Amino acid sequence: MAVALVTGASRGIGKATAIMLAQSGYKVVVNYQRNKQAADEVISTIHAAGGEAIAIKADIADELQVMAMFVEIDNAFGPVTALVNNAGILFQQSTIEELTAERINCVLATNVTGYFLCCREAVKRMAIRHGGNGGAIVNVSSAASRLGAPGEYVDYAASKGAVDTLTTGLSVEVAAQGIRVNGVRPGFIYTEMHASGGEAGRVDRVKDLLPMKRGGQPEEVAQAIVWLLSDKASYVTGSFLDLAGGK
Ligand code: NAD
Repeated sequence: MAVALVTGASRGIGKATAIMLAQSGYKVVVNYQRNKQAADEVISTIHAAGGEAIAIKADIADELQVMAMFVEIDNAFGPVTALVNNAGILFQQSTIEELTAERINCVLATNVTGYFLCCREAVKRMAIRHGGNGGAIVNVSSAASRLGAPGEYVDYAASKGAVDTLTTGLSVEVAAQGIRVNGVRPGFIYTEMHASGGEAGRVDRVKDLLPMKRGGQPEEVAQAIVWLLSDKASYVTGSFLDLAGGK
């Protein structure tokens, strides 16, 4: 049976994706960093709908915690067949003059190193499956990788640029092993991430500047992720879906 790991799945896009994957028949692992109660609520929602899910606490920037999480999944559900690298962080808006090495390294540790570590552990497991059915990975990037987030989050945007390059390179590296690697690039989505960036109402502030004149919902990103992981996207790898209302 298909086993999906969604990182950072206690809220936002990760939560919507975990719930939708469970509805699609995956056994789902809800990774979380701190908020056990929120992760347990996602599990309860999945169980109430007849799905299978467990929650695992791990900081994706910590190599040993990531390795332990994958072993725990092996034991509970069997090896991961679908990975959604979703957990990401955004700090307060700032200009380049205000950026510190500590902050930049912190952003890169989760948004880049964390994605690499989860890809590595997933590929190790997917590569031993046969018949061109190795598995699929979706990396959640951002429209910021194309636009740069000037004056606000260039560190975050650069981290997402690295996610895009990881996606492109890894998709080629593992294609012959039957593993597909794709990316999604959300634009302005209504989640709590913007409050972490210091502006809870950011999506409403910018929405009129977007061609579609509205922000996106987490479920609108989740359904694209679920499609990219599915057999309906069996010939799609190294691709990016922009979910940004036309920007
Ligand atoms: P969110 O802040 O609601 O959720 C992110 C989750 O990741 C949180 O639960 C957080 O605890 C978790 N997390 C952070 N660091 C972690 C770590 N080291 N280990 C494990 N978990 C960790 O944000 P969201 O909007 O749902 O974002 C999900 C993804 O979508 C992120 O990669 C983000 O960069 C991307 N994205 C979001 C938007 C948007 O407008 N919301 C736009 C573009 C891209």
